Amino acid sequence: MSLVTTSDSEKIIVIGSGFGGAICAARLAEAGHSVTVLERGPWRDTVPVRSMGIKRRVAFPRGRKLFTEALRNLGGNRFPGGGVRLNKKGLFEVFYGDGSHIACSSSVGGGSHVYSASHVRPLVDHYWEGHNPAISDAVMSPHYDAVLERMASVTPTADLGIPNTSAARFRDSEHLEAAPPPPDPRLGYLLPKDPNKPGKVTGADGIERCEVDYSANDDGFLGSPGGGKTTLDFAYLAPAMKAGLEVKDMCEVTAIVRQYYGDRRYRVEYTDHHNNSKCLLEADHVVLAAGTLNTLRLLFHCRDTLGTLAGMPQLGKRYGTNGDHLGFWDYNEQGLNQTLGLPTTGGVKLKGDENAPMLGGGGFPSVDSYPLPKRLRERIKRAAFIAGLGEDNMNGVVTMRRGKLRIEYPHGTSSIFARTRAAFHEIEKRTGKKIYAPRTPITVHPTGGACLGSSVDNGVVDANGQIFDNPGLYVSDASALPRSPGGPPAITIGAWAEHIASQFGKH
Ligand SMILES: Cc1cc2nc3c(=O)[nH]c(=O)nc-3n(C[C@H](O)[C@H](O)[C@H](O)COP(=O)(O)OP(=O)(O)OC[C@H]3O[C@@H](n4cnc5c(N)ncnc54)[C@H](O)[C@@H]3O)c2cc1C
Repeated sequence: MSLVTTSDSEKIIVIGSGFGGAICAARLAEAGHSVTVLERGPWRDTVPVRSMGIKRRVAFPRGRKLFTEALRNLGGNRFPGGGVRLNKKGLFEVFYGDGSHIACSSSVGGGSHVYSASHVRPLVDHYWEGHNPAISDAVMSPHYDAVLERMASVTPTADLGIPNTSAARFRDSEHLEAAPPPPDPRLGYLLPKDPNKPGKVTGADGIERCEVDYSANDDGFLGSPGGGKTTLDFAYLAPAMKAGLEVKDMCEVTAIVRQYYGDRRYRVEYTDHHNNSKCLLEADHVVLAAGTLNTLRLLFHCRDTLGTLAGMPQLGKRYGTNGDHLGFWDYNEQGLNQTLGLPTTGGVKLKGDENAPMLGGGGFPSVDSYPLPKRLRERIKRAAFIAGLGEDNMNGVVTMRRGKLRIEYPHGTSSIFARTRAAFHEIEKRTGKKIYAPRTPITVHPTGGACLGSSVDNGVVDANGQIFDNPGLYVSDASALPRSPGGPPAITIGAWAEHIASQFGKH
């Protein structure tokens, strides 16, 4: 392995390109800063990314590749060595903690490739109040507007003719009905003008996208090859790259070193997986946005194993899961095809249940590509995933022991899980359709551990996203969220990233 050293006096380094990283990096570059993004995953092979002229792309796992390319990493509290990397181009990472399992992803564009594109502001009142005197709902509100505009979010109204929504699906159900939507729900999809004839469109910026095909369900958690789902690679990174943003794919950061002597405050060490080389970059400002699991892992690794960062007494405290509880809903009703329509079909609840937790679901994506016998695929088409979510207590603790990350999350102490389990149970009882949900909840919305606070005694980052006792090092992803948003968090993470970038000003 060769050693490459790069030093650039102007650079801001952003680690990760999901909602926290891509949005912050793009805004900084557009404001005139010299920004390099280091992303461990590859560019994905999609119609919009092709139209951006990106040459090195990796297809989403389909067919037999589901066995070999769906998983990047597998790890957990009890894994020898903490975990194993299965395929550096893999799409998902899974971590088994105590009381909380995490699924997150890896690509240029981060979680935007696998998410369900539900754009929802926090469902808990006064979300941003009371954490730091300089941050409030009023300060953050314009940043939400900016994200929704850039992601071209649409309001799903009845006249759009979206098939197989919960409202349509449960219209004649004896036991179930559509849950009322959250305030101002938006979706990050390019919906077809004519649902029977989805086409390809080219935007003014030259980006090509295929409208969502309601009959294909190929825009869900296995990626959106046609670009029907709005992802960060073309929505945020493409315009910023025209303004000079540099994106280094397949570059995995292994260390952040605070330099007390020399020109630059930080040295970032990474592995370039294209040629397996060890590389370095130096900068005064480093924005950490590797997603909750990996941002915490990197900070702990640097502080406790390498000794290249210090301080952060609140690191790992207030880890949360947004109350996520996922299940497989074996609906199995003759003639049913749950894969029609959008990847998520909307909220569902028991008729008359006024205290129902937030439950949503949808059919499994891209089922025809699964390397399974046809009978099994048809069965999966009749099934759905069901997800409960809501505000949790964020009272989990993340630590590192002997170089291994550990998550301890007492899910029994957050009432949302008991409510969701009770709702699953009652739905099963009344409808006779089984819901298989693991005893330990799986979250796709891990939050906290490097939380916003007002001082080093109650948080890790300040109102600018800067780590209190490591000036010049910022956290712009979900690990900085001070509270569970109670609903899908991507837009809240995006707003936080917009806010951090706005604090740098123009260059
Ligand atoms: C199946 C699924 C469905 C979801 N649906 C929704 C939804 O409908 N609405 C919603 O609001 N949210 C949804 N989410 C959650 C949403 O995707 C996440 O909350 C969001 O992506 C988190 O943003 P982030 O910036 O914190 O991290 P991420 O988006 O995960 O980005 C982190 C990036 O950092 C990279 N990285 C990690 N380690 C390193 C390293 N060492 N060096 C370099 N790069 C690194 C990763 O590869 C990744 O690309 C969903 C998530 C999943 C998994």
